[in-house]
Amino acid sequence: MFTKILIANRGEIACRVAATARRMGIRTVAVYSEADAGAKHVAVCDEAVLIGPAAAKESYLRAEKLIEVALATGAQAIHPGYGFLSENAEFAKACADKGLVFIGPPASAIDAMGSKSAAKALMEKANVPLVPGYHGDQQDTAFLNAQADAIGYPVLLKASAGGGGKGMRVVEKSADFADALASCKREAINSFGDDKVLVEKYLQRPRHIEIQVFADTHGNCVYLFERDCSVQRRHQKVIEEAPAPGMTAERRQAMGEAAVAAAGAVGYVGAGTVEFIANQDGSFYFMEMNTRLQVEHPVTEMITGTDLVEWQLRVAAGEKLPAQQTDLQINGHAIEARIYAENPEKGFLPSIGKLRYLRTPQSVEFSLGHGTEPAAFRIDSGVREGDTISPFYDPMIAKMIVWGKDRTEALARMRQALAQYRIVGLHTNIAFLSRLMHSDPFSHADLDTGLIERHHDSLFPAVVPPSASVLALAVAGLLLSEQQAGSDPWQSSHGWRMNLPLIRELRFSEEEQQIALSLQYSAGSYQLQIAGVSHTMQIRQSAGNQIQLSLDELTLSGEVIWDGEKVHVFAAGQHTELHYHDPLAHAGDAEAEGGRLTAPMPGKIVAVMTEKGRAVKKGEALLIMEAMKMEHTISAPHDGEIAEILYAVGDQVSEGAQLLAFAQSN
Ligand code: ADP
Ligand code: ADP
Ligand code: MG
Repeated sequence: MFTKILIANRGEIACRVAATARRMGIRTVAVYSEADAGAKHVAVCDEAVLIGPAAAKESYLRAEKLIEVALATGAQAIHPGYGFLSENAEFAKACADKGLVFIGPPASAIDAMGSKSAAKALMEKANVPLVPGYHGDQQDTAFLNAQADAIGYPVLLKASAGGGGKGMRVVEKSADFADALASCKREAINSFGDDKVLVEKYLQRPRHIEIQVFADTHGNCVYLFERDCSVQRRHQKVIEEAPAPGMTAERRQAMGEAAVAAAGAVGYVGAGTVEFIANQDGSFYFMEMNTRLQVEHPVTEMITGTDLVEWQLRVAAGEKLPAQQTDLQINGHAIEARIYAENPEKGFLPSIGKLRYLRTPQSVEFSLGHGTEPAAFRIDSGVREGDTISPFYDPMIAKMIVWGKDRTEALARMRQALAQYRIVGLHTNIAFLSRLMHSDPFSHADLDTGLIERHHDSLFPAVVPPSASVLALAVAGLLLSEQQAGSDPWQSSHGWRMNLPLIRELRFSEEEQQIALSLQYSAGSYQLQIAGVSHTMQIRQSAGNQIQLSLDELTLSGEVIWDGEKVHVFAAGQHTELHYHDPLAHAGDAEAEGGRLTAPMPGKIVAVMTEKGRAVKKGEALLIMEAMKMEHTISAPHDGEIAEILYAVGDQVSEGAQLLAFAQSN
């Protein structure tokens, strides 16, 4: 076995790999970019080496530098994690050339599966079922259009070299084909440097079901059952679970054997995932193979009682697989939720910022219950309180994984864990995940890849005004923080106290809603007027941010966190963010805005769709920025005329930078 490995990644997966290495007595070398000098993965490894500036291209994607660091630190092997260089055949080969073990499949297998088109051609030969479509070399528009006509609409165009849900276009009818192809090719060349596409039948209400496979260098290959990853946004996974609800033993075996055949066809070694797209009737087709450890591998670990990183290390060191097919069994049910820094209400736009306050549910960080029952909760995370989600990398904050003896128990635990997960400082998808976990379709396992879109209305309910309970907690939090700061007007011994009215008017707002309250202190309790109704409030107890109070006959408890002028109330499983309008602050602030349009986050301009002097309509797309691996369209906030465009394609812009000047039409 190795005595030292280099982990060529960052974030949660780097921490995850380090945890297993530590358990196995293997030393770890972390690498980090300038943006990650204080990151958790640096802290949890035995050694750490700076490899370059923040941009991934200049740090985590520098193959030669990584190899140099591995050699200099005496590491015998490199674990690539996922993303970055994990599916880069040249990197795998370069490692081997320098006598380093690449912890992953041979370069030839990565190559064979790297192109979705070539992979489909290979699978055809191995008799693995394929989605009807065209995956050949001919790329001219008329030819592909004719193929699409023959397949029947809707069809899906996919970048052959694509990944991460990028480079895909659904085409509804023949007349739209040429435009969709052009835009798909543009994204493919920009993102993957290769504009080859394939055309597939776009399945209706499909499920994404994938099989975990594992092969060693002694000719053994097993499947560790399936994961259902149907709950997606933008063709990217949000929730994953294992086993797949409704799976029969026969189909599991058929899919498992098809996956093992796929791995066999390319001489696979190590951990891999064969992704299938399945119809509601259970028929399934090969989609692609991911030649690495997958983000969602923990659900498989939980139901099989395995440590897949340990398996990877053993296989890479030349050992035989730790288990044979007949040794493997499914125990219970596991669900993973990806906690992202993003704003679901705004089209899942990534959010950046500091994790100013972070409380996780009672959990065991990376724990696998060996032999006995698995841990009920597990959190894989690459960040701690005080860390920053930067614009340079993926906005995933953590993965939360729960295990239960069946789906019902696992789901109940997930709901409970989400209600206890608290983050202040940036937008997250936690409240959305919680609604998803309580939704009918997810509860009833009525799964398909369009679940989120189809249930949009119920998953994004109209905002209701904050309840009296939430407001009472916010007010109690305000009073306690004033007391702590020694500025409680009722407690203060300053002379001016006498002149203060005994009634305070407080103003809060939530989104666009203004909320006015009045508060009066008398004889040990408060009278709180909310929307014309008077309530009696008494603060019973407080410890840190935890507050217990009584509001009329109710006893309430919750956690209240003040963050500048924002107050966050966590109570009854809900997170409410209110803005407190401090009458003393901001006396003379003027509103910015007007004729400016600014960058919502740092990024790069990838397309400018308008020009100086052009009259534009509200909502018209003006330019496209790329940030956090996503394209963001900046559109006109109102009708008007473009007075100036301040950046060009290829330019980097910082957050808040003015992108263009706008002359409002009268
Ligand atoms: P990526 O490399 O981006 O992961 P995939 O080929 O794995 O690309 O597809 C990603 C997702 O797109 C799938 O999980 C599924 O939701 C959807 N998808 C892919 N192919 C089809 C298809 N033929 N019909 C319907 N949906 C599809
Ligand atoms: P999966 O099917 O496992 O979700 P993805 O293709 O979406 O596969 O990518 C897996 C993960 O790898 C992403 O969620 C992201 O965290 C990371 N990743 C992918 N591409 C990159 C990249 N270019 N840079 C950094 N991280 C990446
Ligand atoms: Mg995929």
